[in-house]
Amino acid sequence: MRKKEMPKTVSIAPTIEAPEELIQSVESALDVFSNNPLLKGIKIKITKIPQGIKVQVIGQSGKKEALATDVFVGDRRWLKGDIDRRQFELTKTAVVEALSDYTNQNLFWGSLVGVRPSKLYRLIRERGFTQQEAELILRSVYGIKDEKIRLLETVYNKQKGISLLDDKSISIYIGIPFCPTRCTYCSFAAYPLSTHGHLKQPYLEALYRELVEFREYFGEKGIEISSVYVGGGTPTSLTAEELNKVLSLLPKTNELTVEAGRPDTIDREKLHVLKEKGTDRVCVNPQTLNEKTLQLIGRAHTVEEFFQAVELAREVKIPILNIDLIAGLPKENIGDMENTLEKILALEPENVTVHTLAAKRASTWYKELQSWPLPTTIETEKMVNLTAVKLREVGLAPYYLYRQRQMAANLENIGYAKEGSECYYNIIMIEELQTVVGMGAGASTRFVGEVISRVVNPKCPATYVKRLEELIRLKKENLDNLFLRIN
Ligand code: SF4
Repeated sequence: MRKKEMPKTVSIAPTIEAPEELIQSVESALDVFSNNPLLKGIKIKITKIPQGIKVQVIGQSGKKEALATDVFVGDRRWLKGDIDRRQFELTKTAVVEALSDYTNQNLFWGSLVGVRPSKLYRLIRERGFTQQEAELILRSVYGIKDEKIRLLETVYNKQKGISLLDDKSISIYIGIPFCPTRCTYCSFAAYPLSTHGHLKQPYLEALYRELVEFREYFGEKGIEISSVYVGGGTPTSLTAEELNKVLSLLPKTNELTVEAGRPDTIDREKLHVLKEKGTDRVCVNPQTLNEKTLQLIGRAHTVEEFFQAVELAREVKIPILNIDLIAGLPKENIGDMENTLEKILALEPENVTVHTLAAKRASTWYKELQSWPLPTTIETEKMVNLTAVKLREVGLAPYYLYRQRQMAANLENIGYAKEGSECYYNIIMIEELQTVVGMGAGASTRFVGEVISRVVNPKCPATYVKRLEELIRLKKENLDNLFLRIN
């Protein structure tokens, strides 16, 4: 047993009494509470018990206890790696449960902090556990609450019905790192054209070159392209001519999605280009339809401009319209979400993606977040619940989900779709089911083989231009190795 004072950098400085090998999992559990002042001076005691871990938390607010147990110890369906991780997971879950009780915080996702809870569910089912067994595992080993377990099951069953292409297919992501202005909550590669417009031309020249290089490479190697996602930034902040050139350089694909995130960048000419180039899905993303919030979060477009953009997208007949929303925006409440939903559903979108606000370090408002008039946790939960009810009522079902660090109310982002309009790219990207080659600034390439490795393009357009040759070489080398192993 080892007693440990946390380093001074951790301001809440609890005392941990735990077997040496479990100290790291306690520290990882403390991360979930991001220096919550209520944890100041507490003592955390860990005891190993048969099939599990017991935790006691003692502090000024009293004493709390929690247990986490392994329900299928020694089951032959687990792999060695699963078993090796188990003590770490159980300790983390028991500490998180005791601390959420101590701080009176409802953590729907238990000890999970990763981006891909649905991937964990898939992994458990692929080991051979039934739905009922998977429920037990998620509850006891990870502390996930029942409503989220049901959500994972729904998403898993939906994805099972969507066929994936063979091993020799990949998908492509293209990053356009420019926007008209920068939204206060944004952490993406998104440079306002008003200040960074001079970077656009050299950037596009480099992107064209990368597109040509890979189109030739994929052709030579016989690699098929399942889906292409053009995101950013805001791709439609390019001119119609520039968009036309980018899309013309794409290899043939089964699915093409283009983000036209900011309604103030959309016009008929650009939408015609998207249509002509075979775009299946266009994302027009107001985040909220309350004028006062749009101004507050730096969107610099109006509700009216959003309606005009959707009308144009419908007029040019791009088959699928996706609309992104954010729950938990400053000064919003359930009434604001009701208003947004009512207006959006009247447009009969095929896809709606509901995000929960996340405090991202790279955003402009991260440091001031404490002083922003954000809705309470309960209010944000109500908004998210309302979206689930209203969207399901009109036949939009959840088909993928992911999480981010420091999400409001410890919730998640969920993509909803009408039957048959699900975005294939979103599924394979979140579930890491297929290699995605990223091109352009901020684009990440993920090579999915026996292990998953990554090459990340720099966010800064100028650095991307400088490092282009090296990045192309690195990605081709990795692809060569990957497909050599498959063949
Ligand atoms: S439109 Fe999207 S990418 Fe651009 S600044 Fe706003 S949140 Fe970021």
